[in-house]
Amino acid sequence: MNASVERVSRLPAAPSRLRVSFEFFPPKTEAMEETLWRSVQRLAPLAPSFVSVTYGAGGSTRERTHQTVNRILRETSLRPAAHLTCVAAERGEVDAVVEDYKAIGVRHIVALRGDPPDGPGTRFYTHPHGYQTSVELVEGILRIAPFEVSVAAYPEKHPESPSVADDIEMLKRKVGAGASRAITQFFFDNDTFERYVEKVRAAGIDVPITPGIIPVHSFKQVARFAERCGASIPAWLAARFEGLEEDAETRQLVAAAVAAEQVLDLIDRGITDFHFYTMNRADLVYAICHLIGMRPATAAPKEAVA
Ligand code: FAD
Repeated sequence: MNASVERVSRLPAAPSRLRVSFEFFPPKTEAMEETLWRSVQRLAPLAPSFVSVTYGAGGSTRERTHQTVNRILRETSLRPAAHLTCVAAERGEVDAVVEDYKAIGVRHIVALRGDPPDGPGTRFYTHPHGYQTSVELVEGILRIAPFEVSVAAYPEKHPESPSVADDIEMLKRKVGAGASRAITQFFFDNDTFERYVEKVRAAGIDVPITPGIIPVHSFKQVARFAERCGASIPAWLAARFEGLEEDAETRQLVAAAVAAEQVLDLIDRGITDFHFYTMNRADLVYAICHLIGMRPATAAPKEAVA
């Protein structure tokens, strides 16, 4: 492990040293909007470093991402980070979105290339007059204003990447272009993450690499995501959810235990920042944050439960 990732004691964790961020997706319907908003309100007292809002594949949620980010800014004291991709837009259109974020007070953008418009496994292309790569997008954003820019990282490499080394080279270019943090694709094997961070440090990349944690609300859904994004599903994980397809209550308890175990082990390894893929639901993420000792900002912090 790199020296920059020092070990901290496992339990009780020092909650004040831990920082979390939460990722949401823009809702499609009024009912989904209500769910999202209830989740935002439930999680807000945990004082996340930032909350991020995804950008639909092919730019399909441009308006909704913007509306969600705007509402977070207007109605909460949370710091939103807007995701943005290169897909299906001219540079001018992307720049206009960035200008608009700047105008409404957004200070953090998660800059992504985006997935191939014709689906995973197909050739990536974007608008001929658009940003062609995530590196160009990072540069374009920073030409407009000194945003905080986060980018994606892949502990098990991106499916289009020939090797982990190539993938890390791409991360290095994104950081060279001005990104100041990488958030990882979800993963379940902490050894893989630790080895990845070692290689990233060996490549001279010194920005924080924040692990992306996905609570398993639905094993089937996560397995589907994993297949698309090249994350592996260890046999032990499948075994833990085996037979629980019709048993939502037990599934929920197992999911909290699995994610808490993963996060606590990462804390053991010196990790202090975590990015949660919330799927717009607060329950599991709130429980996991509680287990690692985080408490609502108004309450006095308590020691984590052993
Ligand atoms: P890049 O880092 O640019 O490329 C990914 C990999 O592809 C590289 O590491 C490299 O190995 C290979 N590659 C790409 N271009 C080249 C090249 N020119 N030469 C050599 N190798 C190359 N998608 C969305 O649509 N909306 C979102 O809001 C969104 N949020 C995300 C948040 C996080 C934290 C993560 C991890 C992913 C997110 N994604 C999102 C998915 C992301 O858009 C896809 O994984 C996409 O396929 C790659 O985007 P990137 O920015 O990681 O690409």
